[in-house]
Amino acid sequence: MPPQVRLKPNRERSVQQRHPWLFSGAIAQAEAEPGDVVSVRDSKGNHLAWGYYNPRSQIQVRVLRWGDAPPDEAWWQAQLRRAVGFRAPLLADGRTTAARLVNAESDGLPGLVVDQYGEWLVLQALTLGIDRQKGQLAEMLLEATGARGVWERSDDSVRGLEGLAEEAGLLAGAAPPEEVVLLENGVRFRVDFARGHKTGFYLDQRDNRALVGAHSAGKEVLNCFAYTGGFSIYAGLSGAKHVTSVDTSQPSLEVAVENYALNGLDAEQDEFIVADVFDLLRDYREEGRTFDLIVLDPPKFAYSKGQVEAACRGYKDINLNAFHLLRPAGLLFTFSCSGLVSPDLFQKVIFGAALDAGVEAQILQPLWQSADHPVRLSFPEGAYLKGLVCRKME
Ligand code: SAH
Repeated sequence: MPPQVRLKPNRERSVQQRHPWLFSGAIAQAEAEPGDVVSVRDSKGNHLAWGYYNPRSQIQVRVLRWGDAPPDEAWWQAQLRRAVGFRAPLLADGRTTAARLVNAESDGLPGLVVDQYGEWLVLQALTLGIDRQKGQLAEMLLEATGARGVWERSDDSVRGLEGLAEEAGLLAGAAPPEEVVLLENGVRFRVDFARGHKTGFYLDQRDNRALVGAHSAGKEVLNCFAYTGGFSIYAGLSGAKHVTSVDTSQPSLEVAVENYALNGLDAEQDEFIVADVFDLLRDYREEGRTFDLIVLDPPKFAYSKGQVEAACRGYKDINLNAFHLLRPAGLLFTFSCSGLVSPDLFQKVIFGAALDAGVEAQILQPLWQSADHPVRLSFPEGAYLKGLVCRKME
């Protein structure tokens, strides 16, 4: 008998609806070791699906494969190949060389994130079940993509929830150089594999960066939470009159300056400010500074339900001040990457910010994560990045 997990009565519905998570409260009994691939059974013992098990996690089982056949090597290979194939059109014309190849649950591979940067892959194993298989998965990825090496960046704190320590280093093939230059819509960015955030770059904002570029000609732009200058470079290349980039991280802004040079832009013409956005917006408001276009792309504020209220206060604060700084007809590109803050709630917060700022504004369009970060219909939790393009009416 394979290792197995039996559900409590009437708890099989989510599995039948293809949701990949089973929480501890749904599980009656487990005969399995941590990290095992288990047969998930209903309360009567009927097999439903295969998943991997971790009693240390709140999410005790993540379903891999529905139906009778267990997830064998050919299945893993097929899952990876499908995910890689879905991204082929994005990478086809060579103007974009970096993409998320595997988006975890939404690509049918819970806990596995793989990003491509040209010839190199960066892998995050976010769960015990994936951590067990990561060496083999890395080899399969080399085969599926023709990449030269797979570098691990499993130094995400969510691994703590699985009882795992943070890890980074070479998994398969050759070690990548410390830095590479990626192309995104023909724009160049330097990526530092060892120290960069996440796997090195915020690939999920690709389309939104292009959109900011499309609105930037002749504008005075304020890019808040600028990291390595993503939105700033697009604005500059599209003919923005002046761009101010703000981040608390000096090393990130130093890379932003290098990225200016990589794209033939003159960093001397623009401004790079190491500051806390919350404070700086307040200072600018007191000074009466104004802008035509403001980007607010803060880090995740809410990691648990208990943090949602405080997160919303944070969003309101920066958006309220941004509305003050906008000139009439000015545009605000405002984002939240907190999955627990729904698009509806986010829009309400932005409304509250405008109201308190005494500003009338319109939504021009909603925004979300780029298409290489798809959301599986059975897994709405996969939608985390949301944004709004707002225009100040007067
Ligand atoms: N917009 C960027 C990604 C932003 S990530 C892009 O397109 O690539 C969030 C950034 O916010 C990080 O670089 C982090 O250093 C910065 N940050 C976090 N808290 C901050 C704060 N209070 N003030 C300014 N920057 C902050």
